[in-house]
Amino acid sequence: MPSDSQSSSFKHIAAQCQSAYGLFGSITRLPGENENYQLVTEEGQHYILKLSGASRSIETLKLEQRILEGLDPDRFEFVLPKIIHTVSGDAFSQIQREGGASVQACMQTCLEGTAWGEAGLAPPAQLRDMGVKLGQMDLALSSLHEDAAHRTHQWDLCAASQHREKLGLLDNPFKREIVEWMLHFYVASALPHLAKLPHSLIHGDVNDENLLVKGGKVVGLLDFSDTLFNPAICELAIALAYAMLDQPEPLSAGAEVVAGYHSVKPLTPPELEVLYPLTCGRLCTTILIAAERRRIDPEHPTWFSTEERAWFLMEQLYPIDPIEVRDQLCSALALDVDEDPGDNMEELLQRRRQFLSPSLSIAYEEPLKIVRGSGQFLYDDRGKPYLDLVNNVCHVGHCHPHVVEAGRRQMAQLNTNTRYLYDGLTDYAERLVATLPDPLEVCFFVNSGSEANELALRLAESYTGRRDFLVIEGAYHGHTGRLIDLSPYKFMGKGGKGEPAPWVHVVPIPDGYRGKYQGQERNTGEAYGDEVGVVIESTGAEVAAFIAESLLGCGGQIIPPEGYFERAFEHVRAAGGLRIIDEVQVGFARTGTHFWAFEQQGVIPDIVVMGKPIGNGHPMAAVVTTRQIADSFANGMEFFSTFGGNPVSCAIGMAVLDVIEQENLQQHALELGNYFLEGFRRLMGQHKLIGDVRGAGLFLGVELVQDRNKLTPATDEADILVNRARARGILLSTDGPYQNVLKIKPPMVLTRDDVDMVFRVIDDELGDLQS
Ligand code: PMP
Repeated sequence: MPSDSQSSSFKHIAAQCQSAYGLFGSITRLPGENENYQLVTEEGQHYILKLSGASRSIETLKLEQRILEGLDPDRFEFVLPKIIHTVSGDAFSQIQREGGASVQACMQTCLEGTAWGEAGLAPPAQLRDMGVKLGQMDLALSSLHEDAAHRTHQWDLCAASQHREKLGLLDNPFKREIVEWMLHFYVASALPHLAKLPHSLIHGDVNDENLLVKGGKVVGLLDFSDTLFNPAICELAIALAYAMLDQPEPLSAGAEVVAGYHSVKPLTPPELEVLYPLTCGRLCTTILIAAERRRIDPEHPTWFSTEERAWFLMEQLYPIDPIEVRDQLCSALALDVDEDPGDNMEELLQRRRQFLSPSLSIAYEEPLKIVRGSGQFLYDDRGKPYLDLVNNVCHVGHCHPHVVEAGRRQMAQLNTNTRYLYDGLTDYAERLVATLPDPLEVCFFVNSGSEANELALRLAESYTGRRDFLVIEGAYHGHTGRLIDLSPYKFMGKGGKGEPAPWVHVVPIPDGYRGKYQGQERNTGEAYGDEVGVVIESTGAEVAAFIAESLLGCGGQIIPPEGYFERAFEHVRAAGGLRIIDEVQVGFARTGTHFWAFEQQGVIPDIVVMGKPIGNGHPMAAVVTTRQIADSFANGMEFFSTFGGNPVSCAIGMAVLDVIEQENLQQHALELGNYFLEGFRRLMGQHKLIGDVRGAGLFLGVELVQDRNKLTPATDEADILVNRARARGILLSTDGPYQNVLKIKPPMVLTRDDVDMVFRVIDDELGDLQS
């Protein structure tokens, strides 16, 4: 029953309807987000009066009117509301509220039929009919053009990730996990493809209140107030999120809708690929907007009508592989799918055991079969995306189109070797040298970091005439025989000799968190630097060179303390040795402040070694040194690497440099790296398992310990965390002598949203590990 003041206001509106439209009747307010009234005339005819105002702008109301009047009713077999014009022929009337404010209003006919959601569980034929009608609707809409529809709003399915920040409003951890995953799936598997899909005007809110049915058929569609210019497939994705509600077999129900739609408006394979991730995006939008609204008015009569049913559907869908969902949704379509699914996991493992060496390891308890990469994401054979936090090789993003195109084009034109002249080689060498400080100016091109380090050792030997090398504890520099002997990570690790070769001298790892100088007042960097002098003196080494990474990767993502390299280099220089810096992991702007990590450390080496990111995954590497050292190496013996510096590699290397520059990735690495550090430090305040957080740009380490005083490594916990993160769509890995340091060195195109997801997942899982 309306209150007295309500009925007085209803009468006030009714009186104005009479004078504006010549319609006399009683007025009631309709439930729903927008301000709509029902007018029932004395003859029993029903109308809807829609008012503009806070919940719906006049522009939206006008857009709806133009669409309703612009659509050709012969193109679909159901009805839309008709606009009732005023007695003077206008589509809009001026309605004065009792308080005085005047708003614009539009009168529409009321449609026959029962709302989809109130008509009982839809049988297959009704679902298919819904698809057909929606297809007809979209075909008709595709010939309309409305500038005002180029807009966005909170239900815009192209912008569903705007709701990610509301995830913290969900209290139930399992539900939060589902929404987190579905949003991640939407971001990784739908968003990157949307721009290329056909766009059109769409209704944008085909929900179970707006669709009207009668006798098992869709007879009407209401409410164009969410209409948008969007990828056309968003329409079907939104409709599916409602059509599958309450259905015992949601995917068979969805398949009927898809088949109906396709029979009228054929869907393309790229559209079908994004359909399920988009549907997930819509379900998450529903859930997260409801969570936000619960804080405003938990008792609201209409806001939460879909929420519980959406949860139920999401819980049904979550355990099913996305590829399976896609295939089931498309099961009634006759599509030419020429995809070869390849071996299943067991067959693949079996064949791998048969044809490959058992010394190759496989990441994760449950191995991953990866079939695709794009940007910061990898995708497995089940259609699940993973945020890649460990791949510092695909530096500017997996399969970056500019890099792929550069390689493709050059491969189609010419590939040869450095015994011929071609511009690509010199152009690339010149561009690479321009990134380096003087006097680093002569390039050698090879195919891998190992080869580059091997060559660096030879350069040092030929320049100094000596054979001894200094290396940092825990370091890894490559897989050739000589580099295994030089890498403590290997010779001291499993299957290693357990001691250095006579020409190898190991200096302590400059670890400010653990180790000898931890907590001491004296400058730790200089103290560790002096350790290099101590080793030289105590061993009597005839030092050809000291080799080190600028930041230590395999050693446990360690940032050497300030002053370390300066002091260490002084000792090496005094002993007549060269300084080789291995930038295989950390180079090419990763550390944010500088293009090369050694610059951040305040030193200039004699030889720089580059690898991994240089070709974004294409096998190439380089050594750059001084003119003097290069000349000393030119003793008559030719240096030749068959593939090193070939035209294709040079074109790819050039394209990588283009992308770093054009996408401003160095600055991005700095900002995102700092954001990472801040967030992890915040988590450290909440989780005792985090003992240390360190990093420079997008090269970070999070060290897990069981006891912050004793620094007992939390190796098992780190392993569990890595496997749990993988299950939730994040690829992490551990490193360091105790395998208790989470290493983070992602493709540089990672975003802030991605980092927020990482924080939420790590926060959840650490909480779980500690409880
Ligand atoms: N140096 C460092 C610091 C490395 O991390 C690696 C590889 N992990 C190498 C050299 C060897 O590079 P590649 O595997 O390309 O031979």
